[in-house]
Amino acid sequence: IVRFKDVRKSFGTLEVLKGVTLDIMPGTVTALIGRSGSGKSTALRCINALEQINGGELHVCGRALHNGGFDLRALRQDVGIVFQSYNLFPHLTVAQNIMLAPRRVKKIGKDEARALAEEVLSQVGLLEKADNYPEQLSGGQQQRVAIARSLAMKPKLMLFDEVTSALDPELTGEVLKVIEKLAESGMTMVLVTHEMNFAERVADQIAFMHHGTVWELGSGEMLRAPKTPELQQFVGSGL
Ligand code: ATP
Ligand code: MG
Repeated sequence: IVRFKDVRKSFGTLEVLKGVTLDIMPGTVTALIGRSGSGKSTALRCINALEQINGGELHVCGRALHNGGFDLRALRQDVGIVFQSYNLFPHLTVAQNIMLAPRRVKKIGKDEARALAEEVLSQVGLLEKADNYPEQLSGGQQQRVAIARSLAMKPKLMLFDEVTSALDPELTGEVLKVIEKLAESGMTMVLVTHEMNFAERVADQIAFMHHGTVWELGSGEMLRAPKTPELQQFVGSGL
């Protein structure tokens, strides 16, 4: 569903991705791990064209992003992204936040959008909060709403960039549980995470990024038996 082939990305003279090669199969979970600045977020953002690549090839849901000329709107519908900050509109209720994009982008009616909102809110276990405002929710609940909002667009692929980093440890678990449930339902996902235990348990493949490349790729096992000194050091540092 996603294929990185020697992907390069620079910001000015700073080369951040120095040849990333990675395949993501439908229905799998890929965790991107690595030190700060190794290029994890940049790689993730290339997938839904928040960043344009400077070299190599990148295929996403049947589109060649390196060639340009693809339908950006359609791509963004296929690929949902959730960030550390949830950016819900404070003046809209939970349900209204979720209904916004489907109504505007997919032009669906109000009743259909409401039904959709309720469907995705049940998926994240927050149906009873539909008519609350974001400020009435905990950080973990707001993040689950942000995930529901993405799901409402019926994406083929979901990207998560450190979605639990801003949360207190006791709220992290509920968000991870939602992601794990999505994984069980067969959703294709790529997540940047510092939660090593979670990555080990849920991810089908783990990509350790180092200096802008996929330095080591493997299953959860890889974290217990790193092949490269760089991964060994990363795992050992407890990050
Ligand atoms: P972290 O764990 O801290 O989130 P990361 O692995 O996600 O790190 P990236 O955000 O991909 O790292 O950033 C990689 C490098 O690219 C960093 O040196 C960063 O400063 C630089 N960078 C990222 N975005 C931009 C930008 N828009 N303009 C200039 N430099 C950028
Ligand atoms: Mg990042």
